[in-house]
Amino acid sequence: MSAIRTDRYVEEARRGIADPVLRRALAGLQERFGRGTAEAYRRLPEGPGLRQTAHAIREKAIAHLDILLERLARRIRENGGEVFFAATAEEAVAHCAGIARRLGVKIAVKGKSMVTEEIGLNAALAAHGVEVVETDLGEYIVQLAGETPSHIIAPAIHKTRNEIADLFAQHLGIPRTTDPPRLTHAARRALREKFLAADMGISGVNLACAETGHISTVSNEGNIRMATTLARVHVAFMGMERIVARLDEYEIILRLLCRGASVQDIGTYVSFIGGPRRPGESDGPEEFHLVVVDNGRSRMLADPRFREMLCCIRCAACLNVCPVYGRIGGHAYGFAYSGPVGAVVTPLLTGIRRGRDLCLGETLCGACKDACSMDIDLPRMLLELRAILAEGDPGWGVEPSGGLERQVWKLWEGLVSRPALYERALQAGAVLQRLLPRTPAGWIRRLPPPFSGWTKSRDFPPVAAEPFRRRFAKRRKEADRG
Ligand code: SF4
Repeated sequence: MSAIRTDRYVEEARRGIADPVLRRALAGLQERFGRGTAEAYRRLPEGPGLRQTAHAIREKAIAHLDILLERLARRIRENGGEVFFAATAEEAVAHCAGIARRLGVKIAVKGKSMVTEEIGLNAALAAHGVEVVETDLGEYIVQLAGETPSHIIAPAIHKTRNEIADLFAQHLGIPRTTDPPRLTHAARRALREKFLAADMGISGVNLACAETGHISTVSNEGNIRMATTLARVHVAFMGMERIVARLDEYEIILRLLCRGASVQDIGTYVSFIGGPRRPGESDGPEEFHLVVVDNGRSRMLADPRFREMLCCIRCAACLNVCPVYGRIGGHAYGFAYSGPVGAVVTPLLTGIRRGRDLCLGETLCGACKDACSMDIDLPRMLLELRAILAEGDPGWGVEPSGGLERQVWKLWEGLVSRPALYERALQAGAVLQRLLPRTPAGWIRRLPPPFSGWTKSRDFPPVAAEPFRRRFAKRRKEADRG
């Protein structure tokens, strides 16, 4: 499993908020993709309602995962490929390391894949003496910098052109330049050498189809095609949920994936792979291996509250509209997945208590559901996670939240469910707030502990001199009279 740093969410979020360069980069990304995606859904011949159709397709596939995965595995084996079902991250990387050892692989080229980030494949293969080179330009930049991706589709969105210029000058030995075509050319030249030297190509899987027995990859750079065809062996990793039953269903999901991910009608390179090179064919690997990764997904499948999360195709559309992601960036989420999808998936994969800050940090504004290409109800699942944190859940190994927090919420419940008491508390608040420092606009600048956290980064509205309910009743009386 890759390193889990969810405990640093608050610290990293603060760092992100304080970084104006990151904020500008994220604002640009959200402006371009966030708005564009909604428009792209509207322009679909079937209209934005196609997202609900896709949701139904994905739900049906998830309900029949066992049958579909068996069918896919059978077809791939018939075509000469190998399929391995990995229950854990460790099993998945050990299987890949075993293939590398058997074939004496020293260099592996990899196309962008979030599931391999999740299972920590690069570090595990490095420990077995295999150099893994990322070939997606963004991933390559992040790898040279010794960092992790900060966005599912745009992994290096947090890097400035100047930082990339420094990195390339240092690692590729070229004269320092900030000119994008020259930087791209330098990366392409360096990567070509790796493509030609590599014995193993590694890819993710955007979607598999049980009917045809193929997996597919979608990219805009063509790097995955090189990684999957030039080397002697191709190892593809897929989360066990990334499958649909039929080709006509596959086509609907693919169209939505491209719109949700990059506001395109179709990705530049869509590859369909069902096995190794056949006799007489000039391209393709000698061996093809598909590793189907569970790593906690069966647990989600078994819980009706979270099964819907398996409909996710990691298109990243939810990141591009999320106000929280747009302020803090992807590194704050401390694992392979960021944004709203990360706030739900990461706690489920790595531990709900461990990932508590991620699901508590989201605003529940609902923008992610509206943008989701698969129409997944992320806010509902965030609330489910919060309920588990409060009430505990033995099935997920979560104890109820601590005594003090429970007491505070009990007190709050007692207050808001008794109107007379609530009004008296407001009156007392209206008097006591006079002791607190104010902004020129009259807002409270600093609350006393334990509420002081709220006013660390924003002001608090004062308690109205006359409560809304009383004003409303007065107005109604006046309206009735007149
Ligand atoms: S939750 Fe929806 S929008 Fe977010 S990555 Fe998954 S499919 Fe895409």
